Amino acid sequence: MDNKLYLVIPCYNEQEVLPETAGRLKEKLQSLIEKEKIAEGSRIVFVNDGSGDRTWEIIKELHEADSIYSGINLSRNRGHQNALLAGLMTVKDHAELVISMDADLQDDVNAIDEMIDKYLEGTDIVYGVRSSRTKDTFFKKATAEGFYKLMNTMGANTVFNHADYRLMSRRALDGLAEFGEVNLFLRGIVPMIGYSWDVVYYERGERFAGESKYPLGKMVSFAVEGITSLSTKPLRMITGLGFFIFLVSIGMLIYSLIRHFMGATIVGWTTLMVSVWAIGGLILLSLGVVGEYIGKIYLETKMRPRYLIEQFLHEDA
Ligand code: UDP
Ligand code: MG
Repeated sequence: MDNKLYLVIPCYNEQEVLPETAGRLKEKLQSLIEKEKIAEGSRIVFVNDGSGDRTWEIIKELHEADSIYSGINLSRNRGHQNALLAGLMTVKDHAELVISMDADLQDDVNAIDEMIDKYLEGTDIVYGVRSSRTKDTFFKKATAEGFYKLMNTMGANTVFNHADYRLMSRRALDGLAEFGEVNLFLRGIVPMIGYSWDVVYYERGERFAGESKYPLGKMVSFAVEGITSLSTKPLRMITGLGFFIFLVSIGMLIYSLIRHFMGATIVGWTTLMVSVWAIGGLILLSLGVVGEYIGKIYLETKMRPRYLIEQFLHEDA
């Protein structure tokens, strides 16, 4: 049997959690190898996303001590999604199946067993889905769930309560490699690949050390990025809004003509002011959204590389 599993873990300033994470993942991998679910040469690959702390030194030490650990060092901080993509694209030709997860082990490692079972049954993509968020603070939970709802109403279809904890087969990764877009939102792109897919539920735990690298500001920009990279629904909504306002203005025209012929027009200053402001605001808002897309076109046409790898420490089995 030759089912090489590679775990891909993006790391940004994770020196507090890395040693513990590395130990727990190695245990997991070894138990899976013993159960003959995965092949001997399986690896744990840490992607260092331009950390400012000792993260890369720790990864290098791990790799030197044990070839089960591999490391990818990005040239600078490129954000979680790009770091993850760098990892996936780098390992895809070495592995039969790849699982991505966060460095803080908030995603239950024991869900891996079930993911692999589904893979062995022939599923190409298995999404890890949080069954509850009891361990998150109320604020994090509310903002995160609002995030998924907003995404879906805006036309960016994602799997509810699924972060980037997922298994992908090599075939699915080859599919992912075909998507050339620079503004990358993996959770929205992966469902577009197709193939057979399934879901595994798990309890999301607490970060056991260090701080969240996703404060509210980053979450909001992540949502905006997701919506504008995946769908043009906001543009459609502006068209709808414009049409609605046009209808209202016809109504207003008829109303003011009737009032005029009734001789009851003392032209209202208030009405005038209100409409000037309302319309001005709408125009600006619409321009802003259109601008978002123009910005995207601008960035896409540059065809910038999504990541650059400085070093790949790896021993193929
Ligand atoms: N991460 C990254 N680059 C960044 C920010 C975060 O690679 O610029 C990684 C981080 O090390 C972690 C994962 O992305 O492995 C998720 O981050 P975090 O746990 O802080 O997010 P949260 O769970 O709070 O949403
Ligand atoms: Mg986390």
